[in-house]
Amino acid sequence: MTAQQALDEDPYRIAQQQFDEAAEQLELDAGMREILRKINRELTVNFPVYMDDGSIRVFTGYRVQHNLARGPAKGGIRYHPQVTLNEVRALAMWMTWKCAVVNIPYGGAKGGVQCNPKIMSDKELERLTRRYTTEISILLGPESDIPAPDVYTNARIMGWIMDTYSMHKGYSVPGVVTGKPLSIGGSVGRADATGRGCVYVITAAAQELGLKLDGATVSIQGFGNAGAAAAQILAEPGSKIIAVSDSQGAVYNASGLDIPALLQHKQTTGTVVGFPDSEALTSDEGLEVACDILIPAALENQVTERNAARLRTKIIAEAANGPTTPGADKILEDRGIFTLPDILANAGGVVVSYFEWVQNLQSLFWKEAQVHAQLQEIMESSFHAVRDMAKSHRVGMRTAAQMLAIQRVVQATLDRGVYP
Ligand code: NAD
Repeated sequence: MTAQQALDEDPYRIAQQQFDEAAEQLELDAGMREILRKINRELTVNFPVYMDDGSIRVFTGYRVQHNLARGPAKGGIRYHPQVTLNEVRALAMWMTWKCAVVNIPYGGAKGGVQCNPKIMSDKELERLTRRYTTEISILLGPESDIPAPDVYTNARIMGWIMDTYSMHKGYSVPGVVTGKPLSIGGSVGRADATGRGCVYVITAAAQELGLKLDGATVSIQGFGNAGAAAAQILAEPGSKIIAVSDSQGAVYNASGLDIPALLQHKQTTGTVVGFPDSEALTSDEGLEVACDILIPAALENQVTERNAARLRTKIIAEAANGPTTPGADKILEDRGIFTLPDILANAGGVVVSYFEWVQNLQSLFWKEAQVHAQLQEIMESSFHAVRDMAKSHRVGMRTAAQMLAIQRVVQATLDRGVYP
């Protein structure tokens, strides 16, 4: 990658570019732009962890709160070797817009630790999680900042966060984190909420575009929380999941992969690679197979100016955050590929996180049907609100989603006023 490409693919720079485009459309004044395009608070922590061999390693982690105008900060925690402060800043800013686009009362935050959980033992991961939680606990709380799972973190890690925070308080505080195990206040329907929400907006888009989901072909990049759930749920109305990739490679079957069997294979071998009854592809080739719906569900900057012209899909549904660069957006728009932008397409996770938090605050639990129905209502109405904005302002779906979200954050900022 050249230095220019690295700059062009800096997630924070991209998030600000996307904001600038929407702010321009909204004709926001200079002061408001200044407030919204910057990060409100950011904390960097370097902290020691005992490894199993008795040595000490110092890890670097972040917790960033982009904007708090609409409510407490909300956003996931990522464990990945390539986590950077700029990546966490971008993810925090996208969280602000995401919560606003689906109109839930949160500001945006994100956290991350530079580590490789794949080569750490459970005990090392637990010590890392408990120490990181303690380091950022000056920000956390059910009324101030509520983390959730993201790449390479899961319900178990959320359980350790809940327990660590509660130990410091001296009593149980389930509402400090979402995506927890059900036994300690998790919500039914949270585990697959990101994938399910994504399928609700895909269904709404398919209706609008006259695409039948029964028999539609789908390629998915990333087979974790977001990607695997989307695959399972999309297979129900008869869509054919023809390609699936993970960090090791991709598998392809033109007549559709057997998703339950693929999940089983991933569980036993740790990867989709080597799945019987499939052809091996690279992850990049998986993105480029001819399909009706492409779901990037892994990391940022997967659809770029380098491959956008080669994609052969009708819809891109961004289960991942920031998978498409602004340069690629233009190419896709020119080619008439319909984009369901990340802040809309993957908002199902934070919507059900919000339901979980509400249940925790009330010590009252909902049934699964209620979670699904309310998620569906929010995802569909948000899709239509974004679609209306895109049509009325003649802009793409990404800019429309950003405009809708930014308008709501602007209104909250104006109604609160600038303190003092
Ligand atoms: P996860 O850790 O459960 O899964 C990540 C998947 O991506 C794994 O299958 C991994 O093998 C794969 N992957 C990693 N690098 C890859 C590569 N180069 N090519 C192909 N696959 C690769 O993570 P997740 O929670 O599913 O998150 C995935 C994306 O969805 C992220 O962008 C995340 O921010 C976004 N997201 C997640 C949630 C949520 O609730 N978990 C909510 C909103 C958005």
